[in-house]
Amino acid sequence: MTRLASSLDRLGTETAFEVLARAKALEAQGRQVIHLEIGEPDFATPGHIVEAGMRALRDGHTHYCPAPGLPELREVCAEHLSRTRGISVEPSSVLVAPGAKPFLYFGVLATCEAGDEVIYPNPGFPIYESVIRYAGATPVPLPITEDRGFAFSAADLAERLTPRTRMVILNSPANPTGGILDPQLTAEIAAVLQGHDCWILTDEVYSEMLYDAAHASVAAHGLLERTILLDGFSKTFAMTGWRLGYAALPRPLIEPITRLIINSVSCTAPAVQLAGVAALTGPRVEVDAMLRQFRIRRDAVVAGLNAIPGITCVIPRGAFYVFPNITGTGLSARDLADRLLEEAGVAVLAGTAFGAHGEGYLRLSYANSLENIEQALAAIEGLLSGVAVA
Ligand code: PLP
Repeated sequence: MTRLASSLDRLGTETAFEVLARAKALEAQGRQVIHLEIGEPDFATPGHIVEAGMRALRDGHTHYCPAPGLPELREVCAEHLSRTRGISVEPSSVLVAPGAKPFLYFGVLATCEAGDEVIYPNPGFPIYESVIRYAGATPVPLPITEDRGFAFSAADLAERLTPRTRMVILNSPANPTGGILDPQLTAEIAAVLQGHDCWILTDEVYSEMLYDAAHASVAAHGLLERTILLDGFSKTFAMTGWRLGYAALPRPLIEPITRLIINSVSCTAPAVQLAGVAALTGPRVEVDAMLRQFRIRRDAVVAGLNAIPGITCVIPRGAFYVFPNITGTGLSARDLADRLLEEAGVAVLAGTAFGAHGEGYLRLSYANSLENIEQALAAIEGLLSGVAVA
């Protein structure tokens, strides 16, 4: 009998891709849509990285390669993580995959099962909750609240730890809020985790997208031997479509996660990996210019949102998202997001796309031109002026 596996009922999705599809359908009908929904830099991948990828293809790097990753990429990733996090990572502890995302999936699948609890940020990247459920484990949300600067306190974490806590997932800078765990808070979180024997997964894909703050990693506090530290090329180098990410893994996880890679994707395209070597070792001029643009846009979008009755928006400290509070509009996050898309032609995500604790918020990605951002702000204001603001 043909039927689907019931485990699929536990597998969630990423609403950004659904909203993108709805927006594209509207565009196909001739409607204009400004895209503030999808989490990818709108800049081109820097030229020297593209060149390195093309050179690698021309040089014949077009076949299978070692499942854990090319030695030269593992080496520069280890060097990069060691230098930027102030830790000592061996190349043999680094694995490479098509994106950082597989490490969330494989990391949870390799360590968690029914009966285990996993603490994760909520609102947070939707894949966390999805994968925890898929593994059969119990998701334990850690509320990320505006009154704590879109972070949480070490006490908030401590009170959720139980003997069943198998893993704690951290994400800084954070999607969807742009909040960060600053060095002081990171040290406090690490102190709490020192006293609890569980895995830690720290998702640091926005580690280089910080405004006025230094990146802090919990891995730097003596927790490396049970921490999965993941980073990637998608955000920093505007390489979302190349699919390239890496992680430093605790020794006991290297072989099982390599096995998961072999069972699923075999390996990561070698030419893409060589482009990654060029990214981590090459000039930073374009990356720096991109960050300067993001800062200008962030300031414009925050000022514009705060000028709209019913909306307030704190200044995010990292990533390229704003997470405005829309409770003053009297609308739910989902209703407002739907109406913005259908009536104002602005694609955004409801805060609830990132978990129940996202109610009352929208997520806007400012990875779009200043001109489009200004147009979107005017359209949001236009729509809300027709709504009775509480
Ligand atoms: N982690 C977070 C917090 C993200 O926002 C994203 C992408 O949106 C990822 C991981 C996945 O990144 P990658 O493209 O490297 O798979």
